[in-house]
Amino acid sequence: MSRQMMPKQDPFHRSQNFSEVALGYTKEQAVMEAARCLNCKKPFCVDGCPVEVNIPAFISRIKTGDFRGALLQIKEKNSLPAICGRVCPQESQCEERCVLGKKGDPVAIGALERFVADQATASGNESFPEISRNGFKAAVIGAGPAGLTAAADLALQGFDVTIFESLHSPGGVLQYGIPQFRLPKEIVAREVDYIQNLGVKLNTSVLVGQTITVQELFDSGFDAVFIGTGAGLPYFLEIPGENYNGVYSANEFLTRVNLMKAYRFPEYDTPVRIGSRVAVVGAGNVAMDAARTSLRLGAQEVYIVYRRSAAEMPARHEEIENAKEEGIIFKLLTNPTRIIGNDQGEVAALECIEMELGEPDASGRRRPVTIPGSEFQFPVDNVIVAIGQGPNPVLLRSTKGLNLNKHGYIQADPETLATNIPGVYAGGDIVTGAATVIAAMGAGKKAARQMVEYCKRKVV
Ligand SMILES: Cc1cc2nc3c(=O)[nH]c(=O)nc-3n(C[C@H](O)[C@H](O)[C@H](O)COP(=O)(O)OP(=O)(O)OC[C@H]3O[C@@H](n4cnc5c(N)ncnc54)[C@H](O)[C@@H]3O)c2cc1C
Repeated sequence: MSRQMMPKQDPFHRSQNFSEVALGYTKEQAVMEAARCLNCKKPFCVDGCPVEVNIPAFISRIKTGDFRGALLQIKEKNSLPAICGRVCPQESQCEERCVLGKKGDPVAIGALERFVADQATASGNESFPEISRNGFKAAVIGAGPAGLTAAADLALQGFDVTIFESLHSPGGVLQYGIPQFRLPKEIVAREVDYIQNLGVKLNTSVLVGQTITVQELFDSGFDAVFIGTGAGLPYFLEIPGENYNGVYSANEFLTRVNLMKAYRFPEYDTPVRIGSRVAVVGAGNVAMDAARTSLRLGAQEVYIVYRRSAAEMPARHEEIENAKEEGIIFKLLTNPTRIIGNDQGEVAALECIEMELGEPDASGRRRPVTIPGSEFQFPVDNVIVAIGQGPNPVLLRSTKGLNLNKHGYIQADPETLATNIPGVYAGGDIVTGAATVIAAMGAGKKAARQMVEYCKRKVV
């Protein structure tokens, strides 16, 4: 049997709306896809899942139509299945290890996870375990996937957990970064609700490091602290012209659109100004999201400008394909050198230089080298910079004595995620640099386990 393809909105129609692109499996499709799973004695797919979901077990339940049982099976390890089913890079994790993939298409594990999570909500079939309290209090800083997972796992272990989040809405990148058409915000809200229903308290609009410090959290009675503050500080190109009106960091642009709902301006009061030609610099998931969002805001021509070749583009393959289908134009082996403005101080054009690939660099990718004399310009109204993010320094500066690595990220023991400050653990992008949702969740899970042990040791 061949892999069931997930239905999608057609490219022309979807590039003009913010509704979800992928539409999800029908029950019949899910059962047929589940039937492809060989239920291997040694399931390599589980080794590819950073949160160790028992994949064959949940798929077996789908085969028999026991969708609720499948969800309970997933939730033993993963509190955010509807999110992971949508945005995890399964192609390089669980699905990459599926034995069916050796000769054909692997089982669509992500699509099945998404189906199960959506089914349970549609049927009101959520259930919550009985939890007995253990008397310990944990503070979790940051409500992104790392913090949410740590909080859920600690709550399940009986901790009294409070999350402190600087924004007014939880989810981290899931809320402010990944667009509605890839991850509807109702899904994020639903999965955060589940975590709150486990007893986790959510304290939003609290910037730890400014409103309250880590030391003050301990002073107010918390036994352990998890830091999951992500890597939300955008990098810039550092080229002339970056201050013209019409240049955005992808973070600001996506935050305006997703968190502040600029796509529904003036119903919501945050505007975003996008002209008819937009250049997005970078080729990761963030760049694809910014490009596809620009299209939906009315841009006529949207370019991805990337200094390496197609083979090195870091975005998920599926998102690159979606972007191409929607008409995004890829200018590869092209590096911006200058943003040109008009008399009103607005972006008018982007100057670039052509590149070729040289020897591999430290990352193993071939280094892009400029081709002298190949500069060219093309007219644009906006430039969106999506070349990566670093750690936000607010909490780091205020936490005296916290060890950071040479790139400014928190130094945590790779085995335990303990920092050098007793009782303080850290995980997700704030430790690894920008990575993935599931890697952040895996870190939250690992840290929670260690925080339980730490607190038990404290009372012995
Ligand atoms: C646009 C975009 C698209 C992406 N697409 C994908 C994808 O398709 N698949 C995938 O797997 N990964 C994707 N990623 C990467 C993924 O989202 C991140 O790796 C992941 O969210 C990291 O989780 P985190 O919990 O460590 O941090 P974050 O999600 O960044 O959450 C950190 C939270 O901490 C809060 N915070 C920060 N400082 C403080 C403070 N001092 N006090 C209180 N709260 C604070 C922030 O407001 C935020 O809510 C994408 C990233 C972006 C930006």
